[in-house]
Amino acid sequence: MFAAIPLMTSQQRRTTAIYPGSFDPLTNGHLDLIARGSRLFSHLIVAVLTNTHKQALFSVDERLEMMRDVFSPFENVEVDSFDGLLVDFAEKRKANAILRGIRAISDYETELQMAHLNRRLRPATETVFLLANEQYAFVSSRMIKEVIMLGGDVGQFVPEPVLRALRSKFTS
Ligand code: ADP
Repeated sequence: MFAAIPLMTSQQRRTTAIYPGSFDPLTNGHLDLIARGSRLFSHLIVAVLTNTHKQALFSVDERLEMMRDVFSPFENVEVDSFDGLLVDFAEKRKANAILRGIRAISDYETELQMAHLNRRLRPATETVFLLANEQYAFVSSRMIKEVIMLGGDVGQFVPEPVLRALRSKFTS
């Protein structure tokens, strides 16, 4: 037995995962990861990071509202927001896993650093990576914003409530 890793009871083994991100806006790539995560974890908290330096297109409240709408069919998926350290939020929400997606090697490099850092800060929280579905591996929130700003159609890349919100922002 590897002494550094304590055994768990079946109650402790219940996994609550946090899927953190900006989700500005939520894409079908995120949604695919969430649908798959909802099958792996008992409880999945999709958490919008509010203390980001990025200039946001949608307010946190707008993002939360769209996401609640999209996730309503998933009984174990919850939407929340947080600022400060992710590991502090994980502690507060009693989460034992962080879910992240890997689209390409470029994601891996930053994700690896964050996962190591978070493990040092809170070893009880395990980072779990899912590979992006190849259908959505090229989709990013930034790309959605660029395409719609240039007048392109993003209908195949985002869920319906997000598409409606994007259209109302860019046609008014
Ligand atoms: P951040 O501000 O952290 O980049 P994002 O909302 O862009 O937040 O992404 C949150 C997480 O979702 C990251 O782990 C990212 O790699 C993952 N992700 C983003 N787009 C996709 C996609 N198309 N397929 C799978 N995972 C994705």
